[in-house]
Amino acid sequence: MTPAPVIELRDAGKTYPGGVRALRQVSLTVEEGELLAVVGPSGSGKSTMLNIMGTLDKPTTGTVRVAGYDVSKLSDSRLSALRARHIGFVFQHFHLAAGRDAVDNVADGLLYAGIPLRQRRARAREALAEVRLDHRRSHTPNELSGGEKQRVAIARALVGAPRLLLADEPTGALDTASGQIVMELLHELNASGTTICVITHDNEIANALPRRVRFRDGEIVSDTRSDAPFGPLAEEAGS
Ligand code: ADP
Repeated sequence: MTPAPVIELRDAGKTYPGGVRALRQVSLTVEEGELLAVVGPSGSGKSTMLNIMGTLDKPTTGTVRVAGYDVSKLSDSRLSALRARHIGFVFQHFHLAAGRDAVDNVADGLLYAGIPLRQRRARAREALAEVRLDHRRSHTPNELSGGEKQRVAIARALVGAPRLLLADEPTGALDTASGQIVMELLHELNASGTTICVITHDNEIANALPRRVRFRDGEIVSDTRSDAPFGPLAEEAGS
């Protein structure tokens, strides 16, 4: 039996209170092992879709399945458990706790997994090694560069071994060189099995990923794949 897609949106729409129609009947399937960009101008609905994919928000119409489960049919506690087990989040502005060192920031990624602190810290140290920050593990966020902070945030997202990493503009607050290191890291993590969805308004970043889903005005206007991840920038028809 083929495994259920990691995420399946069917005709998902979102109208915010006040009447803004941020998503219009979006259907999108993300299979295990994919690395895709969701790209489009500011205000086109990318973050709204990411929040819905990550079950942080609910669509007003349509269905969302995570690992085959229709999330509208789950209780809040089962939904939180599903999210904790399957999904890790990375945000543009890192969202690290000030005054806590890298190990404890990463260990916080396991807070809802019912794991004792000592074990959380041990797993956090492993995750920091994965993002090659062993040498910075007792540093607090104000002692880290932007790129290092984002790598701590990626380690926190990964420490629970989620199937899916959702990254909302992960390089948006970084200089080009640090952004490139973060993107290389995401490629490596994907190569070792994590499904990754990156939201970006940056065409160059999107074009370096094997699948690109383009948004405009709350709708998907194209969904293209290439066999050459990190290849030369492909001019896409219709974009
Ligand atoms: P993007 O991530 O592509 O910049 P968003 O998903 O953030 O786009 O926004 C899509 C549209 O929904 C925009 O018009 C935005 O102003 C609106 N929007 C986003 N969040 C909210 C909210 N919480 N309440 C009302 N409108 C919102």
